[in-house]
Parts: sequence; C-alpha cells; structure tokens
Amino acid sequence: MVYKRKSFQTLRGMKDILPKDWLYYDYILSNTKKIFAFYGFQRIETPILEKAELFTKGIGKKTDIVNKEMYILRTKENKELLALRPEGTASVVRAYIEKGMFNLPQPVKFYYFGPFFRHEKPQAGRFRQFYQLGAEIIGEGSPATDVEMIIVSQVFLESLGFKQKNICLSLNSIGCSECRPVYIKELKKYYRKYIKQICDNCRRRIKENPLRVLDCKNEKCLFIKNGAPISLDYLCSECNSHFKDILELLDYLDVSYILDKTLVRGLDYYTRTVFEFFLGNEIKRIALAGGGRYDKLVKSLGGTYKPAVGVAFGVERLMDELVKKGKTLVLPKPKIFLVQIGDAAKKQSFKLLEQFRKENIFLGENLGKESLRAQLTAANNLEVDYVLILGQEEVLNGMIILKDMDSGLQELIPLEKIINEVKKRFKKQKSKSK
Ligand code: AMP
Repeated sequence: MVYKRKSFQTLRGMKDILPKDWLYYDYILSNTKKIFAFYGFQRIETPILEKAELFTKGIGKKTDIVNKEMYILRTKENKELLALRPEGTASVVRAYIEKGMFNLPQPVKFYYFGPFFRHEKPQAGRFRQFYQLGAEIIGEGSPATDVEMIIVSQVFLESLGFKQKNICLSLNSIGCSECRPVYIKELKKYYRKYIKQICDNCRRRIKENPLRVLDCKNEKCLFIKNGAPISLDYLCSECNSHFKDILELLDYLDVSYILDKTLVRGLDYYTRTVFEFFLGNEIKRIALAGGGRYDKLVKSLGGTYKPAVGVAFGVERLMDELVKKGKTLVLPKPKIFLVQIGDAAKKQSFKLLEQFRKENIFLGENLGKESLRAQLTAANNLEVDYVLILGQEEVLNGMIILKDMDSGLQELIPLEKIINEVKKRFKKQKSKSK
C-alpha cells in the first residue's frame, strides 16, 4: 500500500505573514501609532472572538458581512455562538459600554490594529483574514468630528507616502432614522419598476438591505442605478445642515472630495456621513479605507445615546499600493560576522557576541557550525564588510583576527580592543559614504 504524504497548506484566502511582509505591517503600525497618538487617539485592542450577537445586532443581520461572511463557531457545550470579529467598531463600542468609558470626558478617541475575518470570495486585495487599522471618536456628534476623522485619515495616508493629489475622498450622507425610511421607500418603489431587469443580487438586496442595491457593479443594473433617487434629496433638515457644515468645513480647509451620491457602505450602523478613501478612478477603484458616522450604535448595543464616527483602513491594500509605488523595505543585515573554531572559541564567542550587542552592534554568527568554510560561506552570503575570526590560538593569546572583506587584509587585534576598533571602522565608513 502506498501512503500519500500529507502536506498542509494555509486555508484559502488566508496567508502566512513572512518576515519580509512584517516589515510593511510594522511600518504601517508605527505610522498609525505616530499619527493617531499625535491627534489624541489612544490604542485599544479587543478580543478576536466575541459573541456573534454583538455583530448581528451591531452590523445588522441582513448585511452581507453578517449574513454571508461571518465565521461562526459554537462552544463545546453548544450553548453559545461565537464569531471571529469581521470588523472593529462593534467590539470597540462594546468595550466602551462595558468599561464605563461614557463616564470619561467625551469624546473618547481610540485606534486599533489587528486581524479580522470575513468568509468572502478571495481575489486580489480581498482576503478571508486581513488586517485593519481603525479609529473611532465616540461621544460627539458635531460635524467637526467627521471632519477631524477625515483629516487625520488623510494625514495618516500622507505619512505613509501617498500624495494628497492621488488620494480620492468620496462622501455621502445616508440620513438618520427619521429621514432614511422615507428615502428607502422611494428607492424600493423605483426599483420595483425594474424588478425583472435587475440582477439576482439586487433583487435580494432590495428586499433585505435596500440601500446596498446602490453598491451593485453589474453592468445591466448600472443605468437603473444611475436613475435611482438619491439619499441627499431626502435628508431631514438636521441631517441636511449636518452634511452642509461638513462640506463647508472641508471647502474651507481645501480638502478635495467627490460627492458620491450612491456611496452607502456595507454595515447597517451608519447614519448620516459615509466616506471612502480610494486610489485610481471611478472605474478602477482601490478602496483603502471606509468610514462614517454611527450615532445609534452605542444605544443599540445597550448604552445610552452617544453619537460617534469611525474609519477603518485595509492594511494589505495599503501594503500593496506601497509596494506598487516602489516603497522597498529590507530586513536588517549585519555588516560584520563572527567566525569561531574550536570549543574554547565557541564559548568565548557567546560572551563576545553579547558584549557587541550591548554596544548595539548587529553581528552575524552561526554558532551551530564547526567548520571555517561553512561559516565563511554564511558570511559571504550576507555580504558583510568584516569578518572576525576567533580560533584556539587567538583565545590563548587574548587576540582576534579582523578581516576586511573588501581588501582581504587580516589584522590581529587584542580582544579587549576589538569593539572599539570595529566602531572606529564603521565611523570611518560612514564619513566616507557622506
Ligand atoms: P469595511 O470594514 O468593509 O468598511 O472596509 C474597510 C477597508 O478594509 C476597505 O476599504 C478595504 O481596504 C479593507 N477590506 C475590507 N474587506 C477586506 C478583505 N476581505 N480583504 C482585505 N481588505 C479588506
């Protein structure tokens, strides 16, 4: 009988984050910390597992994210339904209520960075496990807060190296619980006239989650969508003046934007402002971030009324675009390598390596290897400038060999002087390269 060797692979839509990828995640995280902290946001991280009900209640039962894409698991006792978090806002709001943060001076400003899970159809830039970084301002309803969120998002994108002129901001207002039902009624009435022409998805959405018909990219639905009533025409006077104030402030601040009358977003909790940052154009649009106001969410999850606004960026999308722009990050490489031969030298090397590390000098080594040749090959592969060689004889005499890999010259240096000698050479190298 022949046994087939089993090999395991990552699940579809999920990926290993390799050391070379972490460079980009770390770069994005360090900019997140720098910019958001500077704008008064504090870091919060919530668990990856939450009660599924948090999301069904928060995001909406009929949304694609909850209805089709949420990873749900049952606990062993079969008593509880848990979900891998598909987004960050509902969890942050849960923490805000649970930890009584409504007692703090308002608004409270958070940012987060971590993995999220959606069982979507994997494609370019769309994964089943992906990272998002997000920010929330909870406890303030003023249009100034929406603008603040837009500004900090833009500054963050610029900090990563995206040029303001290339980033598009699209904006819309989808009204509140007073005016939105009137709009939805009109939208349904309009789509009913075309019920036979629209795609199956739109037919389902118009029943279950009507606003999302405006998200349809199907060509046969486009002309229908273009003639559909728009939410801006149905805003109540409060929503209208809220949105007007935002636009006026953005104009005053010279922030360019596109009024996207069909922008709706895929989560039910949004009220009033919705926005998206994207690259490209209307036809080939790469969404980097999405956000908006969610004035009713705190109350619907068990708190008191606290208006709020948030944004979430797709980290892999940012990474892809950074790489496309030519941003290269490389793993740090040592400029010097320590070769050891024999037992006494190996022991001494452990000590010496730590002395170098205390002086913040990054050394290459391969203490597991015995042969000189294997170690020199490793040093060559790293393309180091210098190699230190410590053998039996050197240990006995308290010396070490310093080899310049460029010239091939070797010098014998007293062990207690070697760190200073290496520092001197690096300094010389640095001043030469200036
Ligand atoms: P959302 O939470 O749906 O508002 O998405 C916010 C941002 O997260 C989007 O603009 C994308 O950049 C990113 N994003 C959403 N879903 C995915 C996914 N499945 N894979 C990768 N990035 C995603």
